[in-house]
Amino acid sequence: MGKKSSFSKEFLAKIREQLLAKKEDLENELSAFADKSTVDEGDYNTRFPEMGDKPDENAAEVAEYTKNLTLEDTLERALKDVNETLGRMENGEYGVCKYCKEPIAERRLLARPVSSSCIECKKKLTLEA
Ligand SMILES: [Zn+2]
Repeated sequence: MGKKSSFSKEFLAKIREQLLAKKEDLENELSAFADKSTVDEGDYNTRFPEMGDKPDENAAEVAEYTKNLTLEDTLERALKDVNETLGRMENGEYGVCKYCKEPIAERRLLARPVSSSCIECKKKLTLEA
């Protein structure tokens, strides 16, 4: 139906602030062990750690790198959520459930600003899954 969300400006500003803070946190966490891609927005490449040339140091490097790749994946996914949510906000589509197109409860959005579905739909999906 393409309903427009009817949240107050203040509410949206508050959420936007939360999202931008979250984005900064995630980017800082990623920058600690990965380089920002110059090609894709929101894409990071994990740096290979340099600890030394001894066999145990090499093994530690590989272990660290593997661990960081998993972390990169998790953080990138969270960053993607935040960026997509900011995009929906730009389009005036923020806070509308992607399944039933009804507005999502403000309380839910405050607790989890990147929510894209209402509690009822989420429940249904969780039961079906
Ligand atoms: Zn819904």
